[in-house]
Amino acid sequence: MDLTESDIQAYAGQRRKMVEKQILGRGIKDLSVMEVLSRVPRHLFVNSSLQHRAYGDCPLPIGENQTISQPYIVALMTQVLDLKGGERVLEIGTGSGYQTAILAELASHVFTIERVKPLVKKTKELLEGLKYKNIVFKTFDGTYGWRDQSPFDAILISAATPSIPKSLIEQLADKGRLVAPVGERESQDLIVLNKNGNKVMERKIGSCKFVPLIGKFAWSEEE
Ligand code: SAH
Repeated sequence: MDLTESDIQAYAGQRRKMVEKQILGRGIKDLSVMEVLSRVPRHLFVNSSLQHRAYGDCPLPIGENQTISQPYIVALMTQVLDLKGGERVLEIGTGSGYQTAILAELASHVFTIERVKPLVKKTKELLEGLKYKNIVFKTFDGTYGWRDQSPFDAILISAATPSIPKSLIEQLADKGRLVAPVGERESQDLIVLNKNGNKVMERKIGSCKFVPLIGKFAWSEEE
């Protein structure tokens, strides 16, 4: 994908306002998360007809019945992963690739899995066009994780799950952090899981509504 500097720089004022009102205004404190959200061109991750709404305080459709997450939720989930720059991160549910880009800015390697093939194709082209070199894509059922590349310092599940798949907890490194929307299909708690030796601690950091995680260790398509 050929992107010009002005394509990328567009909507700068809206991006700044988004960070002030929705991110800083709601208590996100991690400066590196704020800096990255004020830089990554969110409007390029939605269809051109929705670009003028890309910086609004809500999720938006991205095709294939899926959505790009609300900016605040992206910031909150990223902040709890506490990325310092050297981490290997696993993301389940690439979708538009917006969260993927945010992770790629803050960690050293991002491994991202998406089950819907056309989304992977589109998103891969966009992220390559934006010159990200530290993202590896896979089209598969992410509830299995990515064993060959494990362990991961951080794991982010971008779709609602009835429980956190065991395979993903196993693939988390010692001292690793995992964040996921866990609950019913219609509403979920945002859960952070910390691994410490063979101890696993979980805490709730908010409520949310994500599209379902569909796979072997989550929901089946028909439900
Ligand atoms: N962070 C993304 C969220 C996309 S919505 C964004 O902001 O754009 C969640 C995504 O999870 C959808 O694209 C959906 O297709 C994907 N998904 C659902 N079940 C999955 C599974 N088992 N493995 C991988 N991806 C899955």
